[in-house]
Amino acid sequence: MIKINDNFCELPASYLFSDVAKRINAFKAEHPDVEIIKMGIGDVTQPICPAAIQAMENAVADQADRVTFHGYGPEQGYDFLRRRIVDVDYRSRNIDIDIDEIFISDGAKSDTGNIGDILSTDCKVAVTDPVYPVYVDTNVMAGRAGHLVDGRWSRIEYLPCTAENGFIPSLPKDNPDVIYLCYPNNPTGTTLNRSQLEKWVEYAKDNNALILFDSAYEAYITEPDIPHSIYEIPGAKDVAIEFRSFSKTAGFTGLRCGYTVVPKALKGLSKNGDEVSLNALWNRRQCTKFNGASYIVQRAAEALYSTKGRHQVKETIAYYMRNASLLRNGLSAAGLEVWGGVNAPYIWVKTPGGLSSWEFFDLLLEKCGIAGTPGVGFGPSGEGYFRLTAFGRYEDTVAAVERLSSLKLNK
Ligand SMILES: *Cc1c(COP(=O)(O)O)cnc(C)c1O
Repeated sequence: MIKINDNFCELPASYLFSDVAKRINAFKAEHPDVEIIKMGIGDVTQPICPAAIQAMENAVADQADRVTFHGYGPEQGYDFLRRRIVDVDYRSRNIDIDIDEIFISDGAKSDTGNIGDILSTDCKVAVTDPVYPVYVDTNVMAGRAGHLVDGRWSRIEYLPCTAENGFIPSLPKDNPDVIYLCYPNNPTGTTLNRSQLEKWVEYAKDNNALILFDSAYEAYITEPDIPHSIYEIPGAKDVAIEFRSFSKTAGFTGLRCGYTVVPKALKGLSKNGDEVSLNALWNRRQCTKFNGASYIVQRAAEALYSTKGRHQVKETIAYYMRNASLLRNGLSAAGLEVWGGVNAPYIWVKTPGGLSSWEFFDLLLEKCGIAGTPGVGFGPSGEGYFRLTAFGRYEDTVAAVERLSSLKLNK
C-alpha cells in the first residue's frame, strides 16, 4: 500500500464545529419552539455589493465573446487588480509596494497555509494563543509542530493572549524563526497599536525571524492608532509577509479572492548559505501549483476599489459594526466582561463565575437560545472565554441582546 504523509496522523480530529452542531441539534430536539440565534461561525450574511455584482455580470459577458474572452490569466493575478491594490491599499497610506510584490489568490486561508512550502521544515514556529487554527494545523502537516502534549504542540511556541496581559502577547523566548500575527485578531477581536506592532518588527529584525501577518480584518479598523498594514511600520518590508482577503471585507467568502504581499527585500537562507529572495520563491511556487484566481472574481475585486464599490463596502462593514457595538453593550449590561468589537467583528467574552468555555456554551444555549463558539476551540489560552460574531443580521442581533438582558448572572 502507498505510504502516507505521517504528519497527518499527528492531527487530532477537529470536533469543535461538529460538537457545536451536535449540542445545537440536541437542544432543538428538546425545545422545538425556540428559534436559536447562531453567532458562532465566522461567515458573513450580507450579499455582495452592487458594484461587484455589476462587474461580474460584465465579466461574464466578456467570457461569452471570442474577442473579450479570458483563458488562463497571469498566475500572480491581473495587473488591473494588482495596480488598484498598490494604489488604494498601500500608496494611499504612504507605503511603497511594487506591483510584482502582490500575488492575487483564492483567499487568505490557502495562502497562510501554503506559505510554508517555501520555508524549511526545520523552522521553529510561534503563534499567539488563542489562534486561527489554520496556522497550527498546516505546520503539523509539514512536520514542524512536533507532538501534541496536553493540548500543545511540542515544537510550537505559544504566546498567550488573555485578560491578564490585555491580549498583548509577550515577545517570544524560544527564538522562533516564523511568527504568525493576526491583527485585528480572530478570535479575540483585539488589536495591536502602532507602538506595540513596532516591537514585533524590531524583534524580528534583531532575531532574524519572519513575521506572517494576517490582516483579513483590516477593513474593520475604526481607531486611528491601529496599523492597517504591517508595512506602516518602518523596516517591516525586511521581515514580514502580509495576507489580505476580500472575504470579510466584501462578503467574498463564497466567491474566493485574497492576496499576499511578499516584499522583494525579504531574503531567506539556503543550506549553502546563499541569500534567496522569498518573493522569487513564492512566485515560483505559485506558477507551479496555482493557475490564478478567476477572471470574473478578479473583476469583482477590482470593482471594490471604485468610488461606488468603496462606499458600498463601507456601508456593509458599518452594518456589522453596529451589530458589534450592540452586542458589546448588551453583554456588558448583562454583567459580562467583553473585548473586541471595536476594530473587529468579533466579541470575546470572559465566561462568568469560572465556567469553562463549554459550560458557558451550554448556559447561553439553554437560557438564551444563543449559540456561539467556545474559546478553548482556538487554543489552550482560549479556555474560559467565548466568541460571538457580529456577522449576523441586525434583527437577530437585536433579538440576541434582548435575550441576554434576561440573563441573571451570579458573578
Ligand atoms: C476569515 C479569515 C481569513 C480569510 O480566509 P479566506 O480564505 O480569504 O476566506 C483569513 N484569516 C483569518 C484569521 C480569518 O478569520
